[in-house]
Amino acid sequence: MPINVTPIAGLSDKINDVRRRTAELVNTEILPNEAVLWRSSRGAGHVDDERVDERRESIELRESVKAKVAEAGLWAPHLPAEYGGAGLDFLSLAYMYEILAYAVGANVLFGIAAPNSGNASILVKYGTEEQKQRWLLPLIAGEMESGFSMTEPEHAGSDPRSITTEAVRDGDEWVINGHKWFTSNGIDANFFIVMCRTVDPTGEMGANGHMSQIIVPASTSGVNIVRGIGIFGGSTSDHCEIRYENVRVPVANTLGLVGQGHQAAQDRLGAGRVYHCMNSIGQMWRAFDLMVERALVREVHGGLLKEKQFVQGFIAESFMDLQSARLMTINAAEKVANNDPDARTAISAIKVFVPAAYHRVVDRAIQVWGGAGVSNDLPLAQMYLTARILRLADGPDEVHKILIAKNIIHRYEAGEGWNFGS
Ligand SMILES: Cc1cc2nc3c(=O)[nH]c(=O)nc-3n(C[C@H](O)[C@H](O)[C@H](O)COP(=O)(O)OP(=O)(O)OC[C@H]3O[C@@H](n4cnc5c(N)ncnc54)[C@H](O)[C@@H]3O)c2cc1C
Repeated sequence: MPINVTPIAGLSDKINDVRRRTAELVNTEILPNEAVLWRSSRGAGHVDDERVDERRESIELRESVKAKVAEAGLWAPHLPAEYGGAGLDFLSLAYMYEILAYAVGANVLFGIAAPNSGNASILVKYGTEEQKQRWLLPLIAGEMESGFSMTEPEHAGSDPRSITTEAVRDGDEWVINGHKWFTSNGIDANFFIVMCRTVDPTGEMGANGHMSQIIVPASTSGVNIVRGIGIFGGSTSDHCEIRYENVRVPVANTLGLVGQGHQAAQDRLGAGRVYHCMNSIGQMWRAFDLMVERALVREVHGGLLKEKQFVQGFIAESFMDLQSARLMTINAAEKVANNDPDARTAISAIKVFVPAAYHRVVDRAIQVWGGAGVSNDLPLAQMYLTARILRLADGPDEVHKILIAKNIIHRYEAGEGWNFGS
């Protein structure tokens, strides 16, 4: 069924207009064509003539939807107009993402596929003019792919200070050595943004041992992709283990200032967490619609599922999960948009609450659909895996709970209570 989008009272006309136009494209161009749009990325096996034709049809359809998105002025909405984007502000993007996430792969058709979208935003903010010409513009044009290489197998990803990948300055070059894994999009990437600890024996670049992000072309000698890590029983994936062995890149490939890497990562993750939660909400919304639709028509033991109280319980609990997750996320988004000092706490709260609620809603939708729920005919199985990953990625739940508690305790120690009315 189409996503049911109407204007939201109290929201600006601009945001309501973005929502309306996004929903129109999702409902007319993407949802009815989901099976064909993504056919070429499903399944393996021998490639016969029929399959080649099917793939061509999928690719052509994707290109035609992308053209309609561009025509509607919604292509790459996260990027400024000068780089070919729609230049939407933070709140407009948040409200747009929940609608996009309702349809499988709609984000890709709107030019906002991770990790390219996050890398593009970082390049816009920290890149030099030369870096923008060489990496950003081809990335936006879809002529290049990229990866973000931060997590290391030997050190806790939830404690970024433990990273040991080192970039040692040698003249006008960095020499990078380190071991990373779970670098998404690693197979296709033309370049990686690599989080390194920089060491400059000349002292010229300053900030020794501090985190810096460095652009590394994938073709550079010493960038060794060990494997695509199989996840959830799959034999491989595009989440790659990579060894950087004596990789030499120009010092001019440093993104931002030496020592600014941690700040750049925070920029990426902070706002990104609100977007990820709005994505989760769009997917919960889809799972919810699918669950209720099925309950209306599926007959079991002499009655429809909608008449069974177990299923009514699933519907009611999922409604409450979705509503509370959505309202919490919108509240956090508004705090970010208003530079509210409590935004950090609100972001950590949604980072923990929303993926768990998403997990519960999808779990119930799968149960209602029975075997079909775990099949590839529906998007539910993939959503289930995504929800599980979100509980440990982007800072695991425990780290965010610690931060929430610390901020609250600090407030009470200062003699104030928490202001739930803000
Ligand atoms: C599908 C997928 C894609 C990814 N893509 C990327 C990518 O593109 N680039 C990239 O750099 N990384 C990526 N990652 C890595 C991801 O960011 C890390 O897995 C995540 O940050 C957790 O780090 P870790 O795996 O080292 O777990 P660890 O840091 O070892 O943590 C393990 C567990 O310890 C617990 N824990 C941690 N801290 C505390 C604490 N203080 N108190 C109590 N318990 C605690 C948590 O339960 C946590 O799950 C990806 C991961 C996955 C699964």
